[in-house]
Amino acid sequence: MDILQTDITYIPGIGPKKGQILNKEIDVFTLGDLLRWYPYRYIDRTRMYYVHEVDNSSVYIQLKGKIASFETLGEGRKQRLVGHFTDGTGFIDLVWFQSIRHIQSTLKVGQEYIVFGKPARFGNKYSIAHPDIDPYNSEADRPTGFMAMYNTTEKMKYAYLNSKAMQKIIYNALQMVKGSIEETLSPDVIKAANLLSYDKAIRNVHFPETPILLRDAEYRLKFEELFFIQLSIVRYASDRKAKLNGFFFNRVGDYLNNFYESYLPFPLTNAQKRVIREIRQDTATGKQMNRLLQGDVGSGKTLVSLMCMLISLDNGYQACLMAPTEILATQHYETFKEMLGDMDVNVALLTGSTKKKERDIIHEDLLSGKTNILIGTHALLEDIVQFNNLGFVVIDEQHRFGVAQRAKLWAKNEHPPHMLVMTATPIPRTLAMTVYGDLDVSIIDELPPGRKPVQTMHRYDQKRGPLYQSITNELNAGRQAYIVYPLIEESETLDLKNLEEGYEHVSQAFPQYKVVKMHGRMKPAEKDEVMQQFVDGEAHIMVSTTVIEVGVNVPNASIMVIESAQRFGLSQLHQLRGRVGRGAEQSYCILITPYELSSETRRRMAIMTESNDGFVIAEADLKLRGPGDLEGTQQSGIPFNLRIADLVRDNDILLQAREIAEQVINSDPLLEQPQHHVLKRQLSRLSGNRFDWGRIS
Ligand code: ADP
Ligand code: MG
Repeated sequence: MDILQTDITYIPGIGPKKGQILNKEIDVFTLGDLLRWYPYRYIDRTRMYYVHEVDNSSVYIQLKGKIASFETLGEGRKQRLVGHFTDGTGFIDLVWFQSIRHIQSTLKVGQEYIVFGKPARFGNKYSIAHPDIDPYNSEADRPTGFMAMYNTTEKMKYAYLNSKAMQKIIYNALQMVKGSIEETLSPDVIKAANLLSYDKAIRNVHFPETPILLRDAEYRLKFEELFFIQLSIVRYASDRKAKLNGFFFNRVGDYLNNFYESYLPFPLTNAQKRVIREIRQDTATGKQMNRLLQGDVGSGKTLVSLMCMLISLDNGYQACLMAPTEILATQHYETFKEMLGDMDVNVALLTGSTKKKERDIIHEDLLSGKTNILIGTHALLEDIVQFNNLGFVVIDEQHRFGVAQRAKLWAKNEHPPHMLVMTATPIPRTLAMTVYGDLDVSIIDELPPGRKPVQTMHRYDQKRGPLYQSITNELNAGRQAYIVYPLIEESETLDLKNLEEGYEHVSQAFPQYKVVKMHGRMKPAEKDEVMQQFVDGEAHIMVSTTVIEVGVNVPNASIMVIESAQRFGLSQLHQLRGRVGRGAEQSYCILITPYELSSETRRRMAIMTESNDGFVIAEADLKLRGPGDLEGTQQSGIPFNLRIADLVRDNDILLQAREIAEQVINSDPLLEQPQHHVLKRQLSRLSGNRFDWGRIS
């Protein structure tokens, strides 16, 4: 058995109680888990500070000096022991709230100590609570090197498992496994990336011998994490390419040509042309296409998808498009009908509210092949929806769909259709390549001509006057306005109340205009009616929750007010903002927040007012929140937990890992060479029984 699988209770100093706390609090069960509990930072313990140097910027410091006197302050539970510590340059208080008697009996006034801890300021005095304190008798007592700091939780601290205790436990664990930590990478990989051995890396990440070894150890461990993700992706992709044949779209025919020559409502942007070309090439290889199309809101993805569907028709196959909401599906349906005009293409719409009778006809026409293009919501995932020969699937705003749902679409045919997933939440390419598995990526990085960037402003919620004036200006010019309220499930009732109040308020403030409201609790038919009024220009102000977030197109709407904007993430704000600025007029987006904001939120608002570029915003979002929180990545799921690597910061390592993973798979697709057995074993260990996410996303 691998020694790293040993239960942590075998480590000296960990009994059942501490063992349980480590299980529960940080998911650490085995020696291997413990050794992967990496430090979050290091402190240079070779550096000695003077008391007079201590200031607000000091984080961890180390002092050498004596305790001049002790003092006990407070009573009962508030009792504390204070040691007045000095090194000749000033005084600082050492404070203990617990084990007071024990501390007082072991520490001696006048003895020289090395004190280590984090100073805090009270008034104009500094103190260190519960410092590490060791007697100093000679230079030999001076600590050397870097000290690792470990994250611990409140419960862990309660059980005396603070950072220092963790360090000690890890030290003991490393003693136990001396000389017996197995290598996890194959010799060719280690050589190609010039890595430390696993054993050496693990030891140095916890107890760095030198700064250079620490750097190399971190590199090796980060590389390894990213490498196995890439290896699983690359292996899967090669597997799929070897096995799965896709439909062979070898021609462009009347559907596309006719449309292009006689129906196209405007010239394509260069980016749209390029993407259509990429998709054409991809579907003409005989392999199944699995492609992600990223394009900012309003960049014209819909038209691209329609043209690709026409290529499918030209090759004798049906196509379908799935959208996350009924409103959006309906809008796509109408857009397609309008664009296709009198062309001989049968388009059908299937949603949750399609009547039974109509539904039966749709099912029949799909099977017979009479329907060429089906547009719909989740409704088209139902088993009863069967195609004659589905060749091309488009998923719009794919972040709204889970992996399992996509899998269902995939399975609609014996041979998987080509898949195009579209998203307006762009993510950096390297991240896309990781979180969306082996998808190829196309990007529309150009907006149709004539668009004016939306002007975005941040305002505080007390000042309604100027805000209403801005709205009035737009309405008087014949335009329409959105007012958006957050809605999250946990506080749904409260949020709906806010929306209702807002609606009342706005109705009173703008008596001469028609105000409508919309939220997710309304019946689809009601929503449609309201939406239709807004689309037709009959209603002037739409007060709603984020149901309008995705895809809705009303070019005459030129102002959007987002209430409680602090509750939205950056990507979501950007999506919402994309609902305005779709016409030729200058549009505005006003973000309303309370005056009191965290600095992170303030930063988010600033990014929104400064940038209109979805990629810039996605990048900033990623930096602010980390990839785990990024909209769109939750369901796709990064397969293995990252403990040390960071998908953004360690981009270079990621690229190197990708390249080496490709080399390995090219030379040995099934990892059959003896030297690669270690990789295969590690891969299956890491993926455990997780869903084979790489297949679909
Ligand atoms: P998204 O990429 O956000 O889905 P849409 O496909 O809804 O964007 O397109 C946004 C708007 O831009 C639509 O009104 C569409 O008709 C228009 N549009 C798309 N392509 C072009 C183009 N090449 N020139 C001008 N307008 C375009
Ligand atoms: Mg769209």
